[in-house]
Amino acid sequence: MSVEKLIFEKGAPGRHSDVLPAMDVPEQPLDDLLPAEFQRATPAALPEVSEIEVVRHYTHLSQRNFGVDVGFYPLGSCTMKYNPKINEETASMPGFARIHPLASESMTQGAIQLLYELERYIAEITGMQRVTLQPAAGAHGEITGLMIIKAYHESRGDIHRDIVLIPDGAHGTNPASATLANYQTVELKSDKRGGVDVAHLKEMLAKYEGKIAALMMTNPNTLGVFDERIVEIAQLVHDAGGQLYYDGANANAIMGITRPGDMGFDVVHLNLHKTMSTPHGGGGPGAGPIGVAKHLVPFLPGPLPAHGREGYYWQDAGPQSIGRVRANFGNFLVLVRAYTYIRSNGPDGLRHISESAVLNANYLMQALKSDYLLPYDRTCMHEFVLSADRQKALGVSALDIAKRILDFGMYPPTIYFPLIVHEALMIEPTETETLETLDEFIAVMRQIAREAREEPSLLLDAPHVTVVGRLDQTLAARKPDLCWRPDVRAGRPAEVAETANTR
Ligand SMILES: *Cc1c(COP(=O)(O)O)cnc(C)c1O
Repeated sequence: MSVEKLIFEKGAPGRHSDVLPAMDVPEQPLDDLLPAEFQRATPAALPEVSEIEVVRHYTHLSQRNFGVDVGFYPLGSCTMKYNPKINEETASMPGFARIHPLASESMTQGAIQLLYELERYIAEITGMQRVTLQPAAGAHGEITGLMIIKAYHESRGDIHRDIVLIPDGAHGTNPASATLANYQTVELKSDKRGGVDVAHLKEMLAKYEGKIAALMMTNPNTLGVFDERIVEIAQLVHDAGGQLYYDGANANAIMGITRPGDMGFDVVHLNLHKTMSTPHGGGGPGAGPIGVAKHLVPFLPGPLPAHGREGYYWQDAGPQSIGRVRANFGNFLVLVRAYTYIRSNGPDGLRHISESAVLNANYLMQALKSDYLLPYDRTCMHEFVLSADRQKALGVSALDIAKRILDFGMYPPTIYFPLIVHEALMIEPTETETLETLDEFIAVMRQIAREAREEPSLLLDAPHVTVVGRLDQTLAARKPDLCWRPDVRAGRPAEVAETANTR
């Protein structure tokens, strides 16, 4: 693919793409409209381009992007399933898309009804009493849930609980949220089967007696395995006076099959942008609603959608509420998409989705475990984690494998997470992929395993066929230079020239 010039390098002075009618009112002097001190000395250096130049430029850029509409995207823990276009259709209906956040209840009956019903569906799917739809992401749900747990303990005069237990395989947001909620975190070991090490849990509960606020768990966890001892774990934590928090960012394996509420969890968050198929990546928007058990309902953020004789309305939170965590309706159009997804699939459809997600993951796992090390060899749920340790012995890392996958028009798995697996490759195919696509991925992964044995140099400088080759990741993360500045060639000052984009 050819080098794409920047939009600033295209066009010519005076070229434009606006089609405005001739002015038929007297022109106002600029100084009358804007005081002189607020005006620029020189005009902004904006591109001067025709409409077709703009359209081609951004279309070209979009073609260089990779998304789930382009190809296979097995990014573990992120649940990059296909996002059905019907979700977009409902989210763009003017009654939803153009609603004013401060419009009266009588003018927004449909919107409140949708949120009211969505709350009921999520409560049913998770087995919880009530749900707040306000949190804008999984991590936001986590801190909201921890604030509720804190308010609950404090309401009982139980003020010395300042520790949150977190298994060593947990997503990084768990300890981050606990720290932000002003808790100390204590790491729990995993056992050989990938579940919580119950002996270690007992040890920690005894060591920190009276101090445990909560255990945050992911089940199925980030290894993609289900912790069968969950009922026993819940009992132990509750007996010690703690609460049980469920990181349900990845609920894709459990819908219609099991429910966190039935396992004994007190707080659950779901990532609607993952499990309920709303487009995500690049920072949002998302939605991380949380459900709580009955004893925690008084602490929920408010208002909550309600229904009475007069129709739908917003019910204010009670005196024990932790308060709002997000303005207005939350990320409303994400919620509309999730509602559409749930309604268009129905209860049987959601169960079928989870069964297919689990089947697809196990199909890949069985096919790949002869070429790659499988540290936890047991039936997986929505995802599984391989290790590239064997390839590493040949000088090829998980990163090299991930980069090589790009050459085949596929997105790589998540790598180096969870931290408890060396050279981790975390693979989540999702239910929306065809057998042909899964087989293609298997063929690619086998070819790469062969290359690692026979021609490792091919992997070390991959990718070879993408627009951008191997980047200096550290430099890109530490010194991101994403902002266009006037070009050196335009004769700008030296300090600008030094940091100018290298493209
Ligand atoms: C994605 C994810 C999160 C965080 O969700 P965000 O919406 O990115 O904040 C937390 N836990 C797990 C297991 C996840 O996969």
